[in-house]
Amino acid sequence: MAKFEVSAVFTASRYLGEIEAATEEEAEEKALEMFEEQLYASLCHQCAGEFDGSPEFLEFVVDGGAD
Ligand SMILES: [Zn+2]
Repeated sequence: MAKFEVSAVFTASRYLGEIEAATEEEAEEKALEMFEEQLYASLCHQCAGEFDGSPEFLEFVVDGGAD
């Protein structure tokens, strides 16, 4: 039998706020500018010891769009 090392990759999201824009794409562009400093996350010392690496920004999730 072979041995395998198995890791799990987690995702989590952070609510940034509301943005007024014409389209979803424009909302993402504005979000990049407005929330640039919040596109990172850090773990506390205890959690950092359990995770390999720190959380990295992956993508925006944009909901809504109706007036
Ligand atoms: Zn922690």
